[in-house]
Amino acid sequence: MSDAPSAGALTKAPADPSKGSLRILQLYPREMNIYGDYGNVLVLKQRLAWRGYGAEILEHNAGDAFPDDVDLIVGGGGQDSGQVVIQDDLQAIASTLRRLAEDGTPMLLICGLYQLFGNFFRTQDGTVIPGIGVLDLETRGGTERLIGNVVARSDEFGEIHGYENHSGQTFLGDGLRPLATVLKGAGNNAEEHHEGARYRNIVGSYLHGSLLPKNPAIADFLLRTAAERKFGAFEDDGVDDSLAELAREHAAARPR
Ligand code: GLN
Repeated sequence: MSDAPSAGALTKAPADPSKGSLRILQLYPREMNIYGDYGNVLVLKQRLAWRGYGAEILEHNAGDAFPDDVDLIVGGGGQDSGQVVIQDDLQAIASTLRRLAEDGTPMLLICGLYQLFGNFFRTQDGTVIPGIGVLDLETRGGTERLIGNVVARSDEFGEIHGYENHSGQTFLGDGLRPLATVLKGAGNNAEEHHEGARYRNIVGSYLHGSLLPKNPAIADFLLRTAAERKFGAFEDDGVDDSLAELAREHAAARPR
């Protein structure tokens, strides 16, 4: 179920973004937006505003024309049934997404869309939902749901905190790097103790929560990359992350 506020409330950039605006596209907010995933978009917007940049929030839903000049792409999780609903449209925009990914557009892909940016998701009932092959990974639905709080460690982003809930178990191809090593929880699958994937400027992850409020290092990687691509630089005097730090401490202390 979508918990996105109406589009009109968020599409307007701040009145005077002195440094320019980034165009942030959320994919399929109706079907692919669970466990607070929309919070990722709000975090990106707020962290830009703190630095004097604007954000133009765009949505792509099934049947829409894909917008021009997208600087950053965000996709969330969804039920298997939601993934089936969007599959045809996703295939229709696949070549555009592949081109943007290869070109270095930063993307954050959570759970259900992380799976579908891979090669395929074979659900527990045997339905095969084709992916778009941006990430060399495949996902197989299992009888066991992997549910609970996760702590993972990444060389690039430090400790990552989030919440997982998925039946699909994901296996990365040989050349694809995981995002992080799991310290608590499952991550990609129940066997390998790694979580998510990193490819070009894409972060794929199973973690909801939302992910970005508790993981500002990932948010700023996405923003910095997008701003440098668009403006040549990311002017950043730093922001007060004491609340995020507190949230991370609480998350770390939670049971699985
Ligand atoms: N439906 C997928 C699964 O269960 C994705 C779930 C999700 O996005 N949380 O594996």
